[in-house]
Amino acid sequence: MFDNQNFADHESVHMFSDQKSGLRAIIAVHNTARGPAAGGTRLWTYPNTSAALEDALNLSRAMSYKNAMADIPFGGGKAVILRPSGAFDRVALFQAYGRAIESLGGVYCTAEDVGVSTADMEEVRKATAYVGGLDTGAAASGDPSPITAEGVFRGLHVAAKNAFGQASVDGVKIAVQGLGHVGYSLCEKLAGAGARLWVADINEAAVEKAHQELGAHIVSPDEIYGQSVDIFAPCALGGAVNANSIDVIKAKIVGGAANNQLASPEMGQALRDRGVLYCPDYVINGGGIINVAAELSGAYDPDWVDGKLDGLSQTLSEIFTTADAENRPTNEIADSLAEQRIQAAAHR
Ligand code: NAD
Repeated sequence: MFDNQNFADHESVHMFSDQKSGLRAIIAVHNTARGPAAGGTRLWTYPNTSAALEDALNLSRAMSYKNAMADIPFGGGKAVILRPSGAFDRVALFQAYGRAIESLGGVYCTAEDVGVSTADMEEVRKATAYVGGLDTGAAASGDPSPITAEGVFRGLHVAAKNAFGQASVDGVKIAVQGLGHVGYSLCEKLAGAGARLWVADINEAAVEKAHQELGAHIVSPDEIYGQSVDIFAPCALGGAVNANSIDVIKAKIVGGAANNQLASPEMGQALRDRGVLYCPDYVINGGGIINVAAELSGAYDPDWVDGKLDGLSQTLSEIFTTADAENRPTNEIADSLAEQRIQAAAHR
């Protein structure tokens, strides 16, 4: 474990199994200097347990950075549940998972990520209070995805101002990869603001809906990268910017909701070399965790959420300015800023 290249000084990594429900989960706590570790739970079919561990470690480190950039009083953590093969009792699985979280005594707080719904989180709540993204309860904030989409939407305006000199997406051509909870909501906002959309998803019903409702052009999942558009918005899974896609991306801005968009950190420099403005993923997609943080505080305040979303845009703007001044890729600038914020909290 300690030699794993993705270990990155995690404070702790917890493995849970529950024979009765079939639960196998990994909760990775990267850093708690700024507060309890907060980050979503992913339910996914992994080829093997090593792949699940890698995912948990990578994602939880990114959450430390994301929460620091969102300026919320939380450290970084993330959990993955290995999807049981065959039929399983979802209620029992998430209740067992809730007991696992409870056993950590508040070191880790969770919410939804890919493959997990608000209904699942309601089952988690039966066993622990360290959960947000709920539909019911005094401070319920519901599915964080629309707020994530709102943060991405605002961030793309900041990027458009930097790259095209106009803080507007009216008439701007945008390719959106992945029309799930966040991607579809983002498309609705973009279409409402006059953007022209090209969309891809492995779920044909989703792209058909975007075509019917938003006038989006449907593109195959393999061809979304190379569209002649102004902005490429990855909103599916990680690694959208990789050794294969880097040379076919024609957009001048890459910015979307997906976590870990760069297959490797070097891709940030590769984008810069090609004149592409990259919106660091964990900055632009911080809206959801801001919303969850508002709920976890015990008293949901929409004005606080709105102010923090504006803060994300401001941080993004500062990153772009520093990247230009220092001629460095935006992902490096974001990492440095996040590390400074985490270290400052650790010193305090
Ligand atoms: P989701 O599961 O609802 O949507 C993902 C979509 O991507 C699905 O429609 C899926 O069919 C599609 N997809 C998968 N593989 C694809 C491929 N190869 N090509 C095209 N489409 C593909 O998930 P979501 O909640 O919308 O999250 C999307 C991304 O944003 C994830 O990376 C997630 O970690 C990240 N994120 C989500 C939130 C949030 O609030 N939900 C917050 C921050 C980051």
